[in-house]
Amino acid sequence: MATFKDFRNNVKPNWCPGCGDFSVQAAIQRAAANSGVVPEELAVVSGIGCSGRISGYINSYGFHGIHGRSLPIAQGVKMANRELTVIASGGDGDGFAIGMGHTVHAIRRNIDITYIVMDNQIYGLTKGQTSPRSEMGFKTKSTPGGSIESSLNVMEMALTAGATFVAQSFSSDLKELTALIEKGIAHKGFSLINVFSPCVTFNKVNTYDWFKQNLTSLADVEDYDPHNRVTAMNTLMEHEGLVTGLIYQNENQPSYENLVQGFGEKSLSSQELPLKQEDFDKL
Ligand code: SF4
Ligand code: MG
Repeated sequence: MATFKDFRNNVKPNWCPGCGDFSVQAAIQRAAANSGVVPEELAVVSGIGCSGRISGYINSYGFHGIHGRSLPIAQGVKMANRELTVIASGGDGDGFAIGMGHTVHAIRRNIDITYIVMDNQIYGLTKGQTSPRSEMGFKTKSTPGGSIESSLNVMEMALTAGATFVAQSFSSDLKELTALIEKGIAHKGFSLINVFSPCVTFNKVNTYDWFKQNLTSLADVEDYDPHNRVTAMNTLMEHEGLVTGLIYQNENQPSYENLVQGFGEKSLSSQELPLKQEDFDKL
């Protein structure tokens, strides 16, 4: 049985002091240990950006890929060795700009991997430009007059794309974040966990204090049911996406690798495709 210390290596992170990504790294290490995973059973695949360095800071298999491509690599790793627990990770620019095509299709494909996005609503590594998650009016070097594009609501997008696990957290809440990553690892399908992870150096608007004032925990929303997709969408719209917790989970849809003919625990013949809802229920 491993402890979170077993997931440490001797590489010192070079994130700025106070960067939210430190907590995400700690949460991944704790969640892996709490899930009964040992380092040689874990693969962390990352894209490009400050957050992309995370695969080098965790004692596990690691792959630091190219910009926006953590998901194709992570899906390939899982298909090649389904015994591995696979975590893909990166930033909002990586996953929701150049990598958005992969994100949408990985969501609907539902391979059993956990995708953790460190969302700081800016491009940090390239020293502060507007990202798809920046609010309209946000001033950066690339938008000195303020962004004239609206911010992408990624949680709503994920529900629309057919996600089976959608969660959101805040890097300041290590306990909740760790618990959500554990749930994501346990989920048999694709888990998207968006983490508000402040960039203390370049984003002077979406700070730790700003998130503390603006986030609503779903634990405080009366009778919230994460298995109801309509409730999930309504709640996101009411709170403009600024909620934390498990937003939606569908445990009835089998994961992709279990539907590939000759590959899954229960393989399917071509006559059985396309599946109907009752077929999913039987699997
Ligand atoms: Fe973190 Fe921002 Fe520094 Fe990058 S530039 S390490 S995102 S605080
Ligand atoms: Mg970013």
